[in-house]
Amino acid sequence: MHIGCPKEIKPQEFRVGLTPNAAHEAVVHGHTVTVEEGAGIGAGFTDADYTDAGAQIAGTAAEVFAAADMIVKVKEPQPVERKMLREGQILFTYLHLAPDPEQTKDLIASGATCIAYETVTDDRGGLPLLAPMSEVAGRLAPQVGAWTLQKANGGRGVLMGGVPGVGPARVVVIGGGVVGTQAAKIAAGMGADVTVLDRSLARLSYLDDVFGPTFKTSYASAGNLIDLVREADMVIGAVLVPGAAAPKLISRVQLSEMKQGAVLVDVAIDQGGCFETSKATTHQDPIYEVDGIMHYCVANMPGAVARTSTIALGNATMPFMLALADKGWRQACEDDPHLLNGLNVHAGKLTYFAVGKALGIDV
Ligand code: NAD
Repeated sequence: MHIGCPKEIKPQEFRVGLTPNAAHEAVVHGHTVTVEEGAGIGAGFTDADYTDAGAQIAGTAAEVFAAADMIVKVKEPQPVERKMLREGQILFTYLHLAPDPEQTKDLIASGATCIAYETVTDDRGGLPLLAPMSEVAGRLAPQVGAWTLQKANGGRGVLMGGVPGVGPARVVVIGGGVVGTQAAKIAAGMGADVTVLDRSLARLSYLDDVFGPTFKTSYASAGNLIDLVREADMVIGAVLVPGAAAPKLISRVQLSEMKQGAVLVDVAIDQGGCFETSKATTHQDPIYEVDGIMHYCVANMPGAVARTSTIALGNATMPFMLALADKGWRQACEDDPHLLNGLNVHAGKLTYFAVGKALGIDV
């Protein structure tokens, strides 16, 4: 199969769909790989890295789209890219179609077979191609929170680990899923005093079994939340209610009860945010203050560490990309129901029920 990887064109997107390693694996499997010139630069991969891996370099995205049987990307195709898709071509990337009727219409019209990273599943009921980005955001959250806690950045001037004779920062993580677990691990590793809240007792039990005394756990009742937030130097919002906007767990009134200069890191901002005062920010201007409380609310946190994110995403997508290339999409999806769950659009039809329901389109 001929696999193509164009340069990402969505603003502020520095990741790339294929790493040189993934390109190399595909070549070893007997496939041809064409990568757009400069596609890997944002993630620290040069064109020479790709040619060393056995890939070809094309000067334009149009050449990549014209040559490839399968396009592998990161972000949903932009309008100009959608025009280049053709009938029978495979598109393997994040799509997030439910809130995006324009893209859905264009993908249906293209006749391409579109497999969305975010709906591929695994045996444990997880989303294996979303999890790596949650891991990145979770590990990044205490790092950006610690920076925001510094006095010059508006924070209360507290060091995460304290020093001998001075206690550590108190960090509260709301939601103990993928993001919350990674955030708690890193915050504890920095020496902070960490408590994770979740509504799922099974999840709290798992965290307690696996992490023991590394951090504390608490049931996410409103009362526990209020008590912990009042004492916190940093609160990391990491909740997810599948298919719904994030619940607002800290109100504006509660901010007045918090310590001045405390920091809120709202990782759930991509689902609307879990603090009443959250509004999405960018890497260029990531923090702002409300009532003396600092907020960090960047909606695409993995973009800050594009190289790590690209490699993590590539590790997760590679087996699926190879199955699609080796067997063709039909056989690969027949053999793997989890990959089949990724199929959102095929041959002019929407094939994913939840997207159809959200957009009022027959599936
Ligand atoms: P997850 O499903 O693994 O975990 C979510 C956890 O929240 C679950 O354990 C659930 O029990 C818990 N929860 C739900 N409601 C709760 C409540 N009211 N109180 C306490 N806990 C509650 O999800 P995840 O992968 O960890 O993602 C968490 C959030 O981070 C999502 O909104 C996701 O979209 C977001 N995210 C953002 C970025 C970014 O760049 N900003 C990157 C990745 C993920």
